[in-house]
Amino acid sequence: MTRPSRSAVLAEMGLAPRWRLRRPASGAAAQPAALREATPAPSARPAATSAGDRESAIQAMDWHALKQSVPACTACGLHAGRRQAVLGVGDERADWLLVGEAPGAEEDRLGEPFVGQAGRLLDAMLASLELERGRNVYIANVLKCRPPGNRNPEPGEVAQCTPYLQRQIALIRPRLIVAMGRFAAQTLLASDATIASLRGRVHRYAGVPLIVTYHPAYLLRNLPDKAKAWADLLFARRTLAELGARD
Ligand code: URA
Repeated sequence: MTRPSRSAVLAEMGLAPRWRLRRPASGAAAQPAALREATPAPSARPAATSAGDRESAIQAMDWHALKQSVPACTACGLHAGRRQAVLGVGDERADWLLVGEAPGAEEDRLGEPFVGQAGRLLDAMLASLELERGRNVYIANVLKCRPPGNRNPEPGEVAQCTPYLQRQIALIRPRLIVAMGRFAAQTLLASDATIASLRGRVHRYAGVPLIVTYHPAYLLRNLPDKAKAWADLLFARRTLAELGARD
């Protein structure tokens, strides 16, 4: 496959010709003023012993068990309307973990996250960083099943599904998480703050640096914010470059 030129990719993102990749600044301070340790969202805390047992079982799973468990999950009502659960895709030892909201119609059909229009934009954004899905990148969602009519995830659904994402993060041990959109950011940071207020800083999820950016589907509807998302990705790349090598 021929890799598209960077200018073609930036044009696709609506960023050409103004934006140029800069070399990562050597030694520049990417460390945030405020580093935050995420604590589990109240809604994600086990309400009963059986919920606690379920969470413990999920946290003990290896990839094989996770790949068996997620498609068989009936913990919330979304299982009734799904064609298939969408666990995630990519390099299971990736440095980059990108987290979105939930599968849409195309993802439900094909079993892979971000394969619709928003996914094409995401691929273009990755290509502009010389990254591609599956190569040092893993892509997952907060919810593994499609909400009907692409409605917003409900708190109970997020609470039931979050242990799977937590386990994916523990298994991948990414060097950086990029939370795309409100649901990913608010779930992982146990916060109800806006994307605008969370951007531009390095947060932490379970010790892993986490950067917040807009959701690709939002960017399709709000073209001027593509430039901000591009700035977020450059910030993410700089942050990763300044981190030490994986131990
Ligand atoms: N939007 C998401 O958040 N995830 C997908 O997989 C597709 C669209």
